[in-house]
Order: sequence, then structure tokens, then C-alpha cells
Amino acid sequence: MYAGKLNTDEYGKEAEKISTVVIPLGSVEAHGRHCPLDTDNMIPERILRDVEGVMRQEILVAPPINYGYTPGLSTFPGTVTIGMETLISLYTQVAAGYVGWGARHIVFMNGHGGNIPALSAACDNIAARGAYAMVISYWLNFSQDILTVCSAQGHAGEDETSLVLAIDPSLVDMGKASSWEKKPLITPMNGPDMASRRIPEAVTGDARKADRKKGDALYRILRDRTVETIRAFAAGEYVR
Ligand SMILES: [Zn+2]
Repeated sequence: MYAGKLNTDEYGKEAEKISTVVIPLGSVEAHGRHCPLDTDNMIPERILRDVEGVMRQEILVAPPINYGYTPGLSTFPGTVTIGMETLISLYTQVAAGYVGWGARHIVFMNGHGGNIPALSAACDNIAARGAYAMVISYWLNFSQDILTVCSAQGHAGEDETSLVLAIDPSLVDMGKASSWEKKPLITPMNGPDMASRRIPEAVTGDARKADRKKGDALYRILRDRTVETIRAFAAGEYVR
């Protein structure tokens, strides 16, 4: 159930029965010229809406943390980035707040790649407080499943654009959907003009291949895989 919709008495009662808290997080940043700045927030929230429908009695969904770490796209209008130290502290303190109210398992439901180093540090901080924390970055954890629906993955590419179309097609300007098939080197790197050279339109992959049907199919898969992953984590199954 949604923690923010409960009153304090209700939260106290539910927290005695439900020990897994899921925190949605993302980023406000350019997603091509065709997708909204809120893309990385909308997708995890939609996945969680579907997941909550299945796991209402098993999870508490916290209010989201909608700003993240995205200096690489900060040259695109509307992108807002939060410093790494601040984010580590914010993620840790929000999660620790729920641990203080009885949570044993924290799941960070992440929509943005740049958040992962800060989330990793936050997981370590939560472990040091005696609780368990994990990150689900849906496009990484469930990459194989996504590739059964889409031909490739990318930033504001075929998969992400399809996921936004399935939420609300009026938020996507398919006339501006573009492609950038060059693969940025996957290693930490940055420089003053790096974003414009590596991903000139804030797109990787081919957004023109996106459609709403693919998005609907992806949400069904992402719901099932997320449910399965959270249940395994809460049951203490950390290996395969
Ligand atoms: Zn994104």
C-alpha cells in the first residue's frame, strides 16, 4: 500500500505487519527532444502502481525522490542535477527513517542510471544500521526480458519511449523522435563538451521504433519480474 496515503495511526499498524518499504526514485532530465523531463520518475512509479496492485499487503510504497544525479545531461534545458554527497545522504536518511519505523527490507526502485553509485553507498549505510537494502534498476535487472519486446535498449530509445507512450501518448512528440546508434563507451568519463559529443540529442538507440503496444507488454513483464524480485529479497534469497 501507499505509505503517504495512510495516517500516522494506520502507518503504525501496517508497519507492524509489513516490513518491506519500496522507495521510487528517478531524475529530472532531458530525454531526447520527444520525451518529457519526468520520464525517469514516471516509469518506476507506473511499475510500482502495477506491483502494488499485486503486493498491497506485502509492501509499503514510500513517496518518491524525484531528483537525481545527472551532470552529464546538464547542458540540456530543464535538466536538474543534485550533488552526489547530497544524494547519498538523502537516500540514506529517507531509508533510515523507514528502518526507524520498523522496516527490515528497503527496495530502491530506480529509474535513472546516474543514481546507482549513490544508491550503492546508501545500501551500505543501511546495512550498517542493521537492515537490508537493494536497488532495482528495471532496465538493467530485467534487460533480457525487455529485449524480448524491443530490439534494443537506450536512453529515451525504443524501450523507454514505449514505456512513456503506454502511460500517456500525449506526453511524447513522436515527430521529434530520433536515433543515435553509436554506443557511448561504458566507463566513467566526462568533460565540458562530452554530453553533446556522446549523445547529441540526449537519445541513444532508436526512439522511432517505439510504440504503445510495446510499452503495455513491457509493463506486464516488469510488474511480474519486480514482484518476483522483491519477494525473493524479502525472503532472504540473495543467490540463484
Ligand atoms: Zn531515462
